[in-house]
Amino acid sequence: MLIKDCKKNSARPMICMVCGRPVSGLGQSVGVCPQCVCEGSGESLQRLSRVHRKSRELFNLPAVPPRNFKGLPCNLCFHHCVMGQNDQGYCGLRRGDPASLRKDGRSRGRVSSYFDPLPTNCVADWVCAGGTGAGYPLFAHDDGPEVGFYNLAVFFESCNFNCLYCQNWSFKKSNLYPPAWRSVEELAREVNEQTSCVCFFGGDPTPQVPFALQASRRMRENLATNILRICWETNLSMHPSWLKLMAQASLASGGCIKGDIKAWNPQIHKALAGCDNGVVLSNFSQLARNWAPLRREPPLVIASTLLVPGYVDEKEVHSIASFIAQMDPHIPYALSVFVPQYHMEDFPITPRAQAEACVHAARKAGLENVRLANRSFLL
Ligand code: SF4
Ligand code: SF4
Repeated sequence: MLIKDCKKNSARPMICMVCGRPVSGLGQSVGVCPQCVCEGSGESLQRLSRVHRKSRELFNLPAVPPRNFKGLPCNLCFHHCVMGQNDQGYCGLRRGDPASLRKDGRSRGRVSSYFDPLPTNCVADWVCAGGTGAGYPLFAHDDGPEVGFYNLAVFFESCNFNCLYCQNWSFKKSNLYPPAWRSVEELAREVNEQTSCVCFFGGDPTPQVPFALQASRRMRENLATNILRICWETNLSMHPSWLKLMAQASLASGGCIKGDIKAWNPQIHKALAGCDNGVVLSNFSQLARNWAPLRREPPLVIASTLLVPGYVDEKEVHSIASFIAQMDPHIPYALSVFVPQYHMEDFPITPRAQAEACVHAARKAGLENVRLANRSFLL
């Protein structure tokens, strides 16, 4: 859809399938209005689970995390799938046979990569070493934006969430074909003298985090200089033991962890992402309390939230920002403008008034460094 067409999206009000009320400024695709989502009635939960199930059927992804108690467990993330020989994990990447659990997302990855010239439009570009030169000379080649150097963007083609607005949803198509695996060595060889950072994103790095960690170690071993920052953009739903290894890799290299907190209210989180946010918040607490104070320049921990029209409003943002500020008010917080995508293509772009109210709410909650990213999309 062309961005200029998005204005039309808000023309017809959403009719909530639960309460029957019209709600202006929202698309019909979620089907349940924010108020009914928060009330969490049985009917609203059922309707939302149908929406998620349908969106996953299109890509042959399991509707729910498998619980085949004669099968084998995967403990990489909070879903704790237990899979029989022919079962696929919720992420679509790992299966219940011993070879898959040993290799997939560990020694081989479903992953693509490309180079982005720096400074690039990373979530953290206004505070990171690549975008600003923070941490020069230890972590950056220049004391300003690293013009002439590149970010290796590593795109993981699987995810353990099911966000209805996924901005990178096309990776789901790879579940319809036999996987094209890449080895750790193949990916590590991509790094060259002009590469000064690597960003693991996707999809999400979570289902393949052992592969990402091995690749990042190998990339740094091969270096002629000391500068290769390891960064992550993630939904923060991995087992905490993996989070610790990710934080160590970023701390040592001058990189960062960009943790996405999609919503504060667990019902809103579940409506939009298909799961609640308990593990996200507890992992973020670990980062904020134990890791963020270890390096402020450039910041090791950054938070982000997408401003989904009607659902992720200033109340949500104020709660998220208060949670962060109580632990560490210096943590940078990036809010981004929603652009219609995937299952929520019928929603409008975040209204300017909502975006400005959210920035104000985050500052009022006590955060010192709040930024509205991709504000050029605002109408
Ligand atoms: S990484 Fe995938 S298979 Fe493993 S627990 Fe998470 S969703 Fe399930
Ligand atoms: S990958 Fe890291 S250092 Fe590079 S631009 Fe993104 S946040 Fe900055």
